[in-house]
Amino acid sequence: MKNDSAAPDVTHLIHHPYTPPADFEAPQPGIFKASTVYFPSVAAMRQREWKDKSSYTYGLHGTPTTYLLEERLCALEGGAQCVLVPSGLAALSTVALATLKTGDEVLLPDNAYGPNKALAEGELKAFGITHQFYDPLSPADLAARITPRTRLVWLEAPGSVSMEFPDLLTLVRICRERRVLCALDNTWGAGLAFQPFDLLGDGQWGVDISAHALTKYPSGGGDVLMGSIMTRDKALHIQIKLCHMRLGLGVGANDVEMVLRSLPSIGIRYKAQDDTARALATWFAAQPQCAQVLHPAWPGSPGHAHWQAVCARQGRPGWAAGLFSVMLSERYTSAQVDAFCDCLKLFKIGYSWGGPVSLVVPYDIGAMRQSWPAHLKPGTLVRFSMGLESAQELQQDLQQALTEALPD
Ligand SMILES: *Cc1c(COP(=O)(O)O)cnc(C)c1O
Repeated sequence: MKNDSAAPDVTHLIHHPYTPPADFEAPQPGIFKASTVYFPSVAAMRQREWKDKSSYTYGLHGTPTTYLLEERLCALEGGAQCVLVPSGLAALSTVALATLKTGDEVLLPDNAYGPNKALAEGELKAFGITHQFYDPLSPADLAARITPRTRLVWLEAPGSVSMEFPDLLTLVRICRERRVLCALDNTWGAGLAFQPFDLLGDGQWGVDISAHALTKYPSGGGDVLMGSIMTRDKALHIQIKLCHMRLGLGVGANDVEMVLRSLPSIGIRYKAQDDTARALATWFAAQPQCAQVLHPAWPGSPGHAHWQAVCARQGRPGWAAGLFSVMLSERYTSAQVDAFCDCLKLFKIGYSWGGPVSLVVPYDIGAMRQSWPAHLKPGTLVRFSMGLESAQELQQDLQQALTEALPD
């Protein structure tokens, strides 16, 4: 068939021969977008292998852009393999679907990220996978709950609302001894506060899987949802990668680009928010409205010694994510605490953390736990996450809202 000479030559546009010169280098990597990936021949198509990242077959199975972020995250968290998923919660659910089957049991800490508990109570239960909640501050309680049906144990360090830091080392040891897979939600540590695969730096003790809500610190903008699942064991990685492929999970190149752009500043952002959180937690502890400050680096906070053991070992100053909770005195009603949150101006009411804007959320601990934990004072819990604003102005904001809504 002849080309219609009156029409623009779109074929020429689509198959344009120009390729720009190679060796372009700049601070940020080039971004590759694809569903379709070309093969030089059918034989090459049949031979290509994507599971070890030696080549490309289809956008969903990886591009130079996703491989790049996966490798940089491995460097951050000390993992060997990484899979990207569309949210932090998708990282948690993919780990569950990749490792559990009907008849198995999963154990979660009672202070676990709420939606992970909801997954166990919803889909996993419907699939015939049972669960139990263990006391995050009692390794003996975890050990007692492990049965031959236990296939997966979740760890969270610390619990992201009530901030208890568990005895990570002992929990990992128990899982290892009982030959149960051990997965950590590493969103708080972010690869900066401690190394999940090498807790003591001697290569001996670490988790099997680290799941991370990249939505928080790696994104740093409050504008991207993404998650990662990291491993050090090739077979376990392939098991997760195949499940990930069959579920059809993938991430958009534009979102990966945003995370790649934010990643170089993760250390200074983490440290800045850590400093602000400690300054405000210290200030809050002295306020008459405050019954308890919950922050792993705060002496007396539940699990403080366990935080020291992995985060501040061998004379390190010890890093912590930029969030803390306070238990406001039980003399205030939850409506008064809501009013306090409403009075804040710089702190916005909203979920998540690690972004530029400080956030606040009140939580009803009684409704979230099996029973009221003995280590928490009675009262209403409010969680603050630090943005990048000045600590002094954030403190003034807290002060004016306390004065306004919670008269001493
Ligand atoms: C935010 C968060 C998640 C979920 O991440 P999303 O990207 O919002 O789905 C999981 N675990 C923890 C501890 C989190 O803070």
